[in-house]
Amino acid sequence: MIIKQTGEKSLKNLMRKQVMKTANLQNPQMELLRKQKIAARAAEIPKKYRKIYKNAAERLNKSAAINAFCLECVCWQKNEIINCSCLACPLFGLRPYTKETNKEPKKNATTKIH
Ligand code: SF4
Repeated sequence: MIIKQTGEKSLKNLMRKQVMKTANLQNPQMELLRKQKIAARAAEIPKKYRKIYKNAAERLNKSAAINAFCLECVCWQKNEIINCSCLACPLFGLRPYTKETNKEPKKNATTKIH
């Protein structure tokens, strides 16, 4: 099972790299411009969220893309994603940080049940 997952993951990475290479070859000027725009945009993002943005924009990570999109949508205010009220947004069900609010409070280990 672990070997299968690792194989699938490396295959996905290989395919992602191939897509990026193809994009570079198809229009190198556009890719150069894109890199410059990504660098400029990354500089405007709060430091703690830059990695998420770069994983999305440079490494084409879909999960990071969803996270970065939601974070950008709410001006990088994490709590605003949790409280998002845009029920019709296509990303509503996929938005990050919602599991943190669904966690049950930790039970006190010393509490006795009668
Ligand atoms: S789910 Fe909410 S926070 Fe995420 S992109 Fe949509 S409107 Fe913005």
